[in-house]
Amino acid sequence: MDNLKNYIGGVWKDSVTGRTYDDFDPANGELLAKVALSSSKDVDEAVAAAKAAFKKWKALPAPARGDILIKAAHVLEGRKEQIARELTCEMGKVIAEARGDVQEAIDMFYLIGGEGRRLKGESVPSEMSNKAIYVVRDPIGVCGLITPWNFPTAIPTWKMAPALICGNTVVVKPATETPRCMVRIFEALIDAGLKDYPGVINLILGSGGEAGEVIIHHKDIQMISFTGSTEVGKRIASVSAETLKRTCLEMGGKNAIIVMDDADLHLAVDSAIWSAYGTTGQRCTACSRLIVHQKIKTEFEKLMIEAIKKLRLGHGLISDVGPLINMNARKKVAEYVDIGKGEGAKLLIGGEIPTDGDLVKGSFYKPTLFTDCKPYMRISQEEIFGPVCAIIPVNSLEEAIDVNNNTAYGLSSAIITQSVNNALVAARDITTGLVYINAGTIGAEVQTPFGGTRGTGNGHREGGVQVLDAFSEWKVVTFDFSGHVQKAQIDNK
Ligand code: NAP
Repeated sequence: MDNLKNYIGGVWKDSVTGRTYDDFDPANGELLAKVALSSSKDVDEAVAAAKAAFKKWKALPAPARGDILIKAAHVLEGRKEQIARELTCEMGKVIAEARGDVQEAIDMFYLIGGEGRRLKGESVPSEMSNKAIYVVRDPIGVCGLITPWNFPTAIPTWKMAPALICGNTVVVKPATETPRCMVRIFEALIDAGLKDYPGVINLILGSGGEAGEVIIHHKDIQMISFTGSTEVGKRIASVSAETLKRTCLEMGGKNAIIVMDDADLHLAVDSAIWSAYGTTGQRCTACSRLIVHQKIKTEFEKLMIEAIKKLRLGHGLISDVGPLINMNARKKVAEYVDIGKGEGAKLLIGGEIPTDGDLVKGSFYKPTLFTDCKPYMRISQEEIFGPVCAIIPVNSLEEAIDVNNNTAYGLSSAIITQSVNNALVAARDITTGLVYINAGTIGAEVQTPFGGTRGTGNGHREGGVQVLDAFSEWKVVTFDFSGHVQKAQIDNK
């Protein structure tokens, strides 16, 4: 069993109070680790360490910062299988997806490590002679990074890599449920060279309600980057309205696949199964609505039921669908299934807690499919974050796109069609941050900007080079080499 500690100022430490909590395998309840439970004193210490380290880290040339990230990618490659297995045991997702999660962390370190040799600004012409202007990125300072449990190695790197390449120092708080994955990312960065830069990365383990609240209020933290629920994101936004911290929020989703009457139905079913029940439906990009043309609805439902019956539920090391993250999450799923039935949706398959064999030890729920759902129903509108999907019948592409766009969220959408015209209309008229043609709603790549509209985000993107805008300030530097005060030619600015 692991004993997981905070990492502050280059030292692994118990929490100041000595308090701990237990980290369990959601598939069988096995105890995996004792974990430091941090208080405000731990956060204060971590922020002070990050503040003290900022000047030296900012002064290190960006290519040298990038080299450390690239080395971290190498280190993680060597540890990929071990970390993936640990991830499956801590978070529950099946091993192939856990490998993908770690691979995304590796890819992000490579991508952003390379940015150390670019990190481009621009030179801009002046209105006047003998004046030169250039525009550069400056770091922001100490960044507070707060992450969820569903991508416990990938998401922290989406934030840490760009924060560090821009010259910021960080205090990171992972979800209570997945501290061990976060420790593994820290170990990789430390072994890649950050051991020589104490205070640049600081880890605070513990709860959002306690340590997280201290981070979002802390006067010496200049920006918060958060991924998680819309509820907590709104809380962070409201605190930031008072503190005026820069706040980047990546929140929930209610994603849909549109299945047109000309679709390849086998492709549609494969896409839907993978997007709806992969990661047990616990992805921000998970498909929880299938907007299906009436003409092929009956055939599509039949194929979906056949495919769902083939899914093996069990521990993620040996199954197709793992457990939910904990019993509370399962309770929420069961409540939504009751809500769906109460609203008049027709249950096609699932809708139960499995009771056979070892499944009783974990937080499992059977993959569930409703049909004849109305767009306004709660199961068609609210994020359930579990293996529950709602078929909403429609009669046209226009109606499908309206239904797709009409939720409080705006992360990912997909259309399955063999018509290039349908595909182009959908790509133009869908209003989510991600649109897939003839693929499911999941599968973003690190080199593309990732994020959503409406209640999913607050206007920035992670991933790609666009993420650098979240973690840097633009600074304009003007040289006047005329030797006298010049008045603007266009007006007197
Ligand atoms: P969550 O409950 O909002 O928690 C996210 C993080 O915030 C955790 O570290 C949590 O700590 C912390 N937190 C909770 N309350 C806080 C507070 N008052 N102040 C500061 N921090 C606080 O979300 P989750 O259940 O971990 O993750 C699932 C959600 O994340 C879903 O809604 C999903 O759609 C969303 N998500 C979005 C994206 C995206 O890119 N848009 C990606 C992945 C996931 P504790 O763990 O201790 O509560």
